[in-house]
Amino acid sequence: KPLPTLIRKKRDGERLEDAEIRSFVRGVTEGTAQQGQIGAMLMAIRLQGMDAGETLALTQAMAVSGRVLAWPPAWHGLVVDKHSTGGVGDKVSLALAPALAACGCKVRGTPEGGRAGRLRVPAPTCAHPQVPMISGRGLGHTGGTLDKLEAIPGFRVSQSPEEMCSILERVGCCIVGQSEELVPADRVLYGLRDVTATVDSVPLITASILSKKAAEQLSALVLDVKFGGAALFPTQESARELARSLVEVGTHLGIRTVAVLSRMDQPLGRAVGNALEVLECLECLDGGGPPDLRQLVTTLG
Ligand code: URA
Repeated sequence: KPLPTLIRKKRDGERLEDAEIRSFVRGVTEGTAQQGQIGAMLMAIRLQGMDAGETLALTQAMAVSGRVLAWPPAWHGLVVDKHSTGGVGDKVSLALAPALAACGCKVRGTPEGGRAGRLRVPAPTCAHPQVPMISGRGLGHTGGTLDKLEAIPGFRVSQSPEEMCSILERVGCCIVGQSEELVPADRVLYGLRDVTATVDSVPLITASILSKKAAEQLSALVLDVKFGGAALFPTQESARELARSLVEVGTHLGIRTVAVLSRMDQPLGRAVGNALEVLECLECLDGGGPPDLRQLVTTLG
């Protein structure tokens, strides 16, 4: 069906079929959809919502809009990640990713059917967890991990899947951005949501976050869903609704997913601003840093 028909369908509160959602995402990725049409569809989704099936279909279509990463078999069960819905001064990824890579806790998930979220200590030969993150830029008033990293002179947030694999092997963690290769549909939609007042939508946030995680072929994911005056969602109830959507769709994608609700009524830590936040994370990794940041890093870890 032509795109205006799909936009009209969603505008009028109807459900989109999986094939229709795939066709919209193909138009976004291949550039055949006009910016106005994409913006209109985003607004229709923002106003009319999507059910869990539509959200899953959108997430899957976005995840395969580019390359899907593949990891060595030895890493099975060890590829883990964290994602936050974003807030002011939220710099947790910058401290948590290297902390997980460096802690040497040698964790491996419980066997199939084990209790989600529980970890058992494996035999000492087990590899370290690997932390590949596909992060975003600032969205709305919230800061972006990629912008913070680029405050480090020479830091390159664009890496090919092969480069990611080699960085993970050497360092154990890697933070990159969406690209032409990795989840290109999210790169387009993310940028347009920011300028069309369509950021605070449960299905759009769910698909944006989890398409990147599905493309990473994760084993386990912890989500930091923020609520409060400086978060995308002001109330705990709305954040809980988002957390439920994220855990439901993540689980359907085969990722062991848990969510933590955390307050965002004031900036996290003391520093706000890209370079300052990087410095605060270095302090945190060095055993210092503000208590609220240390506590959240520890909880999510
Ligand atoms: N983080 C993302 O990657 N996408 C969103 O929509 C919100 C937070």
